[in-house]
Amino acid sequence: MPRRSHSVPYSVRSFYAASDVEHGGKALIEVAGRGRSSFAAYAHGGLFRAVQQMRSGSATEVLRQIYASGLRGCGGSHLPLARKWQAAIPYAPRYLVVNGLEGEPDTFKDYFLLRDYPQVVLEGIAISCRVLGVHEVYLVINAAYRDCLAALEAVWQQHAGEFADIKLHLLTGPEVDLYVVGEETALLNYIEGKRGEPRLKPPFPHQCGLWGQPTIVNNVETLSWIPILLTDATRFAGQHPKLVTLLGEVAAPGIYEVTLGQPLHDILQQAQPEELSFVEIGGISGGLVPAARLDVAYADEALRPLGVQVGAGTLRVFGHGCDPVAEVVRALQFFQAESCGRCTPCRVGTQELARFAQALQDGDVSAEDQHWAHRVAAAMQHSSTCGLGRAAPVPLLSYLHHFAEPQDD
Ligand code: SF4
Repeated sequence: MPRRSHSVPYSVRSFYAASDVEHGGKALIEVAGRGRSSFAAYAHGGLFRAVQQMRSGSATEVLRQIYASGLRGCGGSHLPLARKWQAAIPYAPRYLVVNGLEGEPDTFKDYFLLRDYPQVVLEGIAISCRVLGVHEVYLVINAAYRDCLAALEAVWQQHAGEFADIKLHLLTGPEVDLYVVGEETALLNYIEGKRGEPRLKPPFPHQCGLWGQPTIVNNVETLSWIPILLTDATRFAGQHPKLVTLLGEVAAPGIYEVTLGQPLHDILQQAQPEELSFVEIGGISGGLVPAARLDVAYADEALRPLGVQVGAGTLRVFGHGCDPVAEVVRALQFFQAESCGRCTPCRVGTQELARFAQALQDGDVSAEDQHWAHRVAAAMQHSSTCGLGRAAPVPLLSYLHHFAEPQDD
């Protein structure tokens, strides 16, 4: 039974009362946008240009431009957006769900967009609706991002003419068990008022999504690039821009706009690292890479041999006083707590690996233990239902690959 929503022009709902919250919510930090910003340049040139431009063209032409740009999903999937939409359009999508949960603890690029560029976010959503033929949108933002709600509502009301024929539901996410609800099918369950745990796929959301209807799920950053690419093709000419959250032991933490393929060292230097011993690449579900291995391009193809990926675009710098194994313990305890527990490889595997990581920190593991940990990690990566179970072993595996001494039998 779906939860009742208010009708036009938007609704704001929160499913958890503050008194229910004891732990697990996202700790909000102050994030500043730094350096070059295509979003600032777009806003400076006049907002809603892309929506107005679209009125004089066709949805097919906009889809062609998105295809030509090579825009990929920025929430971590990196799937080409146009291909995802082309697969969905024959199913006549009924809903667009925009994922602004951003459950990774150290990731704030969607927050930056929602807070500083709500017009661009909503403009990207409006264009997406017209290309997809969708008239109903659910924008779900992290509960810690409540300070963005008023601006989003104000833009929607002030520019109602730009959003004609679109009904927006503006929701805040749960205060706890946040990470797994960010998985696209868990998010659909959450919106329907059910327990926020992933569904089995197939069927995929574009076939059977929200309330059984064909649904497209996209990330906030992904859709926010659409007004930019429609009005400044040069930003996507043979390259792919990306927002990264760069934090840790740096003098200038914040949100940086980079180009995928740029030298990773150059990106890190912009934030002025105070010391650089190792970097967590891809957020808490990413991996740890020592400073000596950072002479590499910031792109999935170049990072994959190091056992890491761009993911949602988080880079956390650690100095010489930090112990990488402590970060592995932190990550595995996080995944143990966040696992929804529905499938055995993830439920048991996160417990086992958290226990192993703690033993590693205590200096109490044998070669046999290490062999067992590798087997558990492989089982999780091959048979977990959703991305949480598949990503949870990555911090440990990267540590064992780059930092740990091989154990004697
Ligand atoms: S992999 Fe983990 S989080 Fe995902 S469905 Fe299975 S138990 Fe739940």
